Amino acid sequence: MAVKLLPGVVAGAGAVVGAAAVGQWVPSVVALGQWTTWRAVPGGWCRWRGQGAGVALTFDDGPDPVWTPVVLDVLARLGLPATFFCLGSHVDAWPGLVGTVVEAGHAVGTHGYHHRHHLGRPPWWVVRDLDASLAALDRVGVQPRWFRPPYGQVSGPTLVAARSHRLELALWSAWGREWAAPDAGAVATRLLASLVPGAIVLLHDSDRLSPPGSVARMLDALGPLADELDRRGLAAVTLDELVSPAGSPAPRTSENGGRSR
Ligand SMILES: [Zn+2]
Repeated sequence: MAVKLLPGVVAGAGAVVGAAAVGQWVPSVVALGQWTTWRAVPGGWCRWRGQGAGVALTFDDGPDPVWTPVVLDVLARLGLPATFFCLGSHVDAWPGLVGTVVEAGHAVGTHGYHHRHHLGRPPWWVVRDLDASLAALDRVGVQPRWFRPPYGQVSGPTLVAARSHRLELALWSAWGREWAAPDAGAVATRLLASLVPGAIVLLHDSDRLSPPGSVARMLDALGPLADELDRRGLAAVTLDELVSPAGSPAPRTSENGGRSR
């Protein structure tokens, strides 16, 4: 039997669908930090930068059995602390690596479980993916403060899921684009141009989701990056330190446990 809907009912249903679509898409941002001067949306809704004199290096897509240990070695040699946004599926595959990251003094956040685009995903999918990623980290003893959704895509469901878990969203203000750069020099040039106080730098400790050679190019750019931090009097810090009210950390030196090269 055909149901004849009154025009007002149709209009109302259309408004609901429209509102749902708006709720899904309007808050969406994809990174943006490189092209704006926005620091953060107050209340932990979303952050692109911190305050103070620090610079937060962040590594996405790990842990990776090939590259994460190498990245940790290079960071230790350069005296650079960092924040690792781990992918839940990789945590489950190589759980022991997360402990290695933590024991080295770095912070750990979540990067979701399946590394899928959030734009256009229904709320239940985003919640389930985040739940799975947090469960994976919990199994290795980590309860993260920070969430960086894959590709820096923040939709309405991303925001709701993050808030329901009291997670703070962290995107970035600088990147090396090592997945697209021709060589380490190009990665370094892009990074050095954006090293300012409060910067959040996007890097990767896995190339399982990007072209082979990406991490190697990034690693070769870390030495010049460390030199430039020293030259500008900037300290590498974790995200927690970058946003802490007290946080104006002094540049690390060999005397206070920092770089030794
Ligand atoms: Zn990623």
